[in-house]
Amino acid sequence: MLSVAEAQRLVLERALPLPARVMPLSPDVLGLILAEDVVSDLDMPPFDKAMMDGYAVRAHDLPDGRAVLSVVEEVTAGQMPRLRVGAGQATRIMTGAPLPAGADAVVQVEHTSPSDENHVRIEGRPVRPGVNVLARGQEMRRGDVVLATSKRLGPQDLGILATVGRTSARLHSPARVAVLCTGDEIVEPGETPAVGHIRNGNGPMLAAQVRRAGGEACYLGIARDELDSLRAKVAEGLRSQVLVLSGGVSAGKLDLVPQVLGELGVQPHFHKVAMKPGKPAFFGTQGDTLVFGLPGNPVSAFVCFELFVRPAIRRLRNHPATIPGTVRAALSEDFAYRTDRPTYHPAWLDHSADGPWQVRAVPWFGSPDLLGLSRANALLYIPPGDNQFQAGHACEVLPVDEPS
Ligand code: AMP
Ligand code: MG
Repeated sequence: MLSVAEAQRLVLERALPLPARVMPLSPDVLGLILAEDVVSDLDMPPFDKAMMDGYAVRAHDLPDGRAVLSVVEEVTAGQMPRLRVGAGQATRIMTGAPLPAGADAVVQVEHTSPSDENHVRIEGRPVRPGVNVLARGQEMRRGDVVLATSKRLGPQDLGILATVGRTSARLHSPARVAVLCTGDEIVEPGETPAVGHIRNGNGPMLAAQVRRAGGEACYLGIARDELDSLRAKVAEGLRSQVLVLSGGVSAGKLDLVPQVLGELGVQPHFHKVAMKPGKPAFFGTQGDTLVFGLPGNPVSAFVCFELFVRPAIRRLRNHPATIPGTVRAALSEDFAYRTDRPTYHPAWLDHSADGPWQVRAVPWFGSPDLLGLSRANALLYIPPGDNQFQAGHACEVLPVDEPS
């Protein structure tokens, strides 16, 4: 059976970055990847700028930090000074205001006291040129590349884009990901399930995973376990860049998804991966559309999404780190687990502990146990075998609570 790493390789071989387009800037673009070098259109700050409320002075007048200076004018942020500061003079200045000509330092107001109406007494430490002044262009110069292509946009980058006058930028588009659930027994969350029915937990979960991976989820509803219902919904889903199906890929009598995908021209690349949970996972393509058939058991669907769909969505949006990284962590307690396949066990990863990261398997009875998974923030990798791990044993862990 195919290993998880081989299956990931087959997926990534077929997931190609989507073309970039110019998008208006808003919080909606957070996390998208830049597809251009962003150049500053100005020096920042655009003028020598006071960094304190106080007095703009000539350092030369204050070799020992003491003097009485005559105050020639007052400048607040947004105003331009009119007068030059000459020998023995100062300008009252507020944070953010341009430094007047002649001045080369600012003495903060706490080190001053009014002497008379037109004079100020300075009683501070010796003043050197440049003190409390942000020189023009100190942060960036006109023409500088301030954000390089491939940068993943964080809130601070949106601040920089605004600073250099950008209201739009060339960004890699997020993938449109259709989510389709299957099963005669599945009803929507707002309904009361009849006997033999259960609510659709996977639809909302998978749509949220899509969003967290940086894709745009489009929920297509529930297809029944019969060919016509499946065909219609799958055909709709194949118009997206990625189609994620839940259920119907195992060996049951009504597991019709692989057959319908085949009829609609989806070329299979794998069906079954050596992993637990999630063994029946299917992956195929139709043209450029990536199609994932995830097993219906909620934890199987979740784990297969994290291992296969999430990297694909990241590749499509040109994320520099396609496969989310694992970390090494020490078991905080003894843990015995026997398994015939590589297993991804819900676990709690403790980031806050001093020293090495600690991990603990959470109680979990298997692929239907979504509640067990909801108490986890990571998946603990367990190799096949009759494992008897002692506390302190170093394990590989995949965090699953991180933003993309
Ligand atoms: P399947 O993969 O279709 O054989 O489904 C495997 C198990 O997962 C069955 O017990 C289903 O009832 C359950 N299941 C399938 N789809 C969903 C869903 N959307 N939400 C919650 N459980 C599901
Ligand atoms: Mg089913």
